[in-house]
Amino acid sequence: MKSVLKLMAGAAIIASMHSAAVAKDLVIGVSWSNFQEERWKTDEAAIKAALEASGDKYISADAQSSAAKQLTDIESLIAQGANALIVLAQDSDAIAPAIEKATAEGIPVVGYDRLIENPDAFYITFDNKEVGRMQAREVFKVKPEGNYVFIKGSSSDPNADFLLAGQMEVLKEAVDAGKVKNVGEAYTDGWKPENAQKNMEQFLTANDNKVDAVVASNDGTAGGAIAALSAQGLAGSVPVSGQDGDHAALNRVALGTQTVSVWKDARELGKKAAEIAATLAGGKTMDEIEGVQTFNGGPKGVEMKSVFLAPMPITKDNLNVVIDAGWISKEAACQGV
Ligand code: BGC
Repeated sequence: MKSVLKLMAGAAIIASMHSAAVAKDLVIGVSWSNFQEERWKTDEAAIKAALEASGDKYISADAQSSAAKQLTDIESLIAQGANALIVLAQDSDAIAPAIEKATAEGIPVVGYDRLIENPDAFYITFDNKEVGRMQAREVFKVKPEGNYVFIKGSSSDPNADFLLAGQMEVLKEAVDAGKVKNVGEAYTDGWKPENAQKNMEQFLTANDNKVDAVVASNDGTAGGAIAALSAQGLAGSVPVSGQDGDHAALNRVALGTQTVSVWKDARELGKKAAEIAATLAGGKTMDEIEGVQTFNGGPKGVEMKSVFLAPMPITKDNLNVVIDAGWISKEAACQGV
């Protein structure tokens, strides 16, 4: 009798496991670093929509730019029963213990957009080096020689150096030939536009305003740099790069004060990340993820399973791409033109 009961209990467990897999009521916890840039709300909406479509649950936390808060946020998402985590790292080194705790408990972790260099975590992003190449290429087309300034990203974000590496790769020949001169290079603390503006002001002062080109690493910092250029009457005559397809930046591209915004369709990244997190939480391995590749280009050279999406440069000549994609309305893009 006892063994029959045991058998029945076992069958019930198997049945409930089976129905859980079919109902897909997984809990996916998303830890955001902050919502400073416009894009992150788009990423969030895409993750939410994808999880809603698959019948899974979205829970989240906003670290408000604090690595210490993100550490406890991740622990709290685990305590709330997250079956997988998607993490946009504020500072990947600082949150490493929380990531290790999750993977030790068998909770899959998806490093979102920014590298979390842990072999047990998955990595999904746009090709950041390629973003950097595109930024430098478009600026270089306008100014093939002269004094260049580099407004880099946050030093706690590995993307800052990936972007710079791509930028330098494109400019190397011209730098070596003495055509392009690096007259100023600085990280932008917290990716904050006001810090970018301050750095740009200092570079302008130090060079008697003789700055010919600005390679800025995202649209927020581009906005700060352009404000500094504008105060000196230089906006529009000095090429400036950016990335993200921020609406204000796309408008600047239309107006001619920003040369390029490298567009990364955050709707795609969010959707893919949600699907990957749910797939891993459902018991599949990282090798079973569609399009999986090996990446080892991080600072520590750790081998990671990853998926890279392709970015696209948007200039005055192809603004229609983001309009046609429903990313921005024609009115918003071309306001004031
Ligand atoms: C992202 C950019 C973003 C920046 C600031 C980077 O890691 O790749 O898209 O603009 O962080 O949030």
